[in-house]
Amino acid sequence: MSNLRHTCWLCLLWSHYQHCPIEIEWHGIWFVTGTFDYDLVVIGGGSGGLACSKEAAQLGQKVAVLDYVEPSVKGTKWGIGGTCVNVGCIPKKLMHQAALLGTALKDAQKYGWQIPGPISHDWSTMAEAVQNHVRSLNWGHRVQLQDNLFFFYELLFHTILKEYNFNTAILHFVFPIEVIMSLPLVWQIMLTAKNIVIATGGRPKYPTHIPGAVEHGITSDDIFWLKESPGKTLVVGASYVALECAGFLTGIGLETTVMVRSIPLRGFDQQMAGLVTDYMEAYGTKFSWRSVPKSVDKLSSGVLQVTWTDEQTGKDQRDTFDSVLWAVGRAPETKTLGLEKVGVKLNKESGKILVAADESTSVPNIYAFGDIGEGRPELTPTAIKAGKLLARRLAGQTNELMNYDNVATTVFTPLEYGCVGLSEEEAESRHGKDSIEVYHAFYKPLEFTVAERDASQCYIKVVCKRGGDQRILGLHFTGPNAGEVTQGFAMGFQCGATLTHLKETVGIHPTCAEELTKVNVSKRSGLDATVTGC
Ligand code: FAD
Ligand code: NAP
Repeated sequence: MSNLRHTCWLCLLWSHYQHCPIEIEWHGIWFVTGTFDYDLVVIGGGSGGLACSKEAAQLGQKVAVLDYVEPSVKGTKWGIGGTCVNVGCIPKKLMHQAALLGTALKDAQKYGWQIPGPISHDWSTMAEAVQNHVRSLNWGHRVQLQDNLFFFYELLFHTILKEYNFNTAILHFVFPIEVIMSLPLVWQIMLTAKNIVIATGGRPKYPTHIPGAVEHGITSDDIFWLKESPGKTLVVGASYVALECAGFLTGIGLETTVMVRSIPLRGFDQQMAGLVTDYMEAYGTKFSWRSVPKSVDKLSSGVLQVTWTDEQTGKDQRDTFDSVLWAVGRAPETKTLGLEKVGVKLNKESGKILVAADESTSVPNIYAFGDIGEGRPELTPTAIKAGKLLARRLAGQTNELMNYDNVATTVFTPLEYGCVGLSEEEAESRHGKDSIEVYHAFYKPLEFTVAERDASQCYIKVVCKRGGDQRILGLHFTGPNAGEVTQGFAMGFQCGATLTHLKETVGIHPTCAEELTKVNVSKRSGLDATVTGC
């Protein structure tokens, strides 16, 4: 057998071959051989994986990051950075901003701005601007990786093969080379690392049991990368992704329907969820309540005919749409990792990796966190913080564990909803109805007054433990800039804030956030909670 040795082609292409110990051998087919020795190999270059690897590199660890984006079912592709940067938080928030600006344009006229002609929105302009920003973030990540001089491979991590050697996990991965070069060769690379971190996140689910769902539907992996407007859209699902997408689509002027099979925003305070959807209905989003989709057919005209069952009447209904967006949850990305061969235990129902408080899995030296971790919040800041702390622990710098309690979040719907802590329902079930006191207020944002906007859904709820200083168990806010407002109060909450602390806080006038410092009407009192006066 001839044994030709060459320097790795990939590294020649990426011009960092001087660091690369891979050699390619000819054994009838080209094989990549060579052994890497890393302190840490991170699989997944998303929010969590990048944070973990950058932190580890800064602490002097030798790190390799492997990231590969499998195109969506519709063929949409994107760069490094994971869900948040490419198909999540960032493009979503920018499109939400596009929608808010539409509302602001309407308000502006009440404030004296003369806007000639009807206002209209151009999808392609927005999409191009958003996509360019995302590409700039991809570039930024790449530059940072290069600057930190650690190894980044845009490869699909395929199979972990476990071997233990002096407490060193030996990784073995296989990826099809056609992914990169359209050549029908199989490369196998053996990596060795002291520790392996899995941060491969998740991808949107399709309801595969519904005829036409996959062929004709799109998901959040596609919506932000569409070059043309999705037109009249049916959004199926009623949680974060569904309501946020339906919100911005409505806001930019597209006819949008949300199909809800049960309740909106499961797991959130249901009074607040009701306010969010009430506002959306008033804003123009249509809701098809208690409805279960049955099929999607493409008509000869090109439009999509959706059939669903109205669970309230038991009857089937039909309508046509230009696009159907499935926002029915996300599935963890574990299928290519061969975790069963290694013995990494998964939750059979969710498919997520079972993890301990220190992010360790059932296999020593293999860690997992972020969206892939069972029971972890599917949020970017938790993935980032958990990743940094894990890197520090693995480098022996700290024993500090990630605190997943009291994580604040915001749903970026047309009326934003921010919260931290327990919902009223959860507080009641944990502490008993008689042991909690709920303070609330319906307030009118000052900016709504001149604009003559309805503020019926602008609401504040502070759930407290009854008695003493009344420790705050949950804080909820619907209104403009809910994310900014909630972020500030989340720190107080983290420090164990009580109603007394809240009342002792002097407000900043005139803001919506100051209304939180003024809540004094309890639900139990039955008094009118409408804020009057300045
Ligand atoms: P990801 O960011 O998903 O990264 C995983 C990476 O691993 C990806 O690049 C993936 O391609 C790669 N990968 C997968 N398998 C392999 C493999 N076998 N080999 C190599 N690489 C692989 N969170 C918020 O906090 N705020 C928001 O406003 C918000 N908005 C969102 C909006 C939408 C539409 C969506 C879908 C999510 C949103 N999220 C939001 C959630 C947030 O995006 C995720 O919680 C976060 O990205 C999770 O980070 P992660 O590192 O666990 O995974
Ligand atoms: P999700 O929270 O799992 O919600 C899935 C939704 O789809 C639910 O309303 C569910 O209804 C519905 N559904 C599921 N299967 C269905 C079917 N076959 N037909 C009709 N409806 C169906 O998923 P998600 O909205 O995709 O969000 C995923 C995670 O991403 C969230 O947990 C969140 O942490 C993160 N995220 C965060 C933000 C943010 O921070 N602003 C934004 C977006 C996403 P049921 O309630 O009846 O099951």
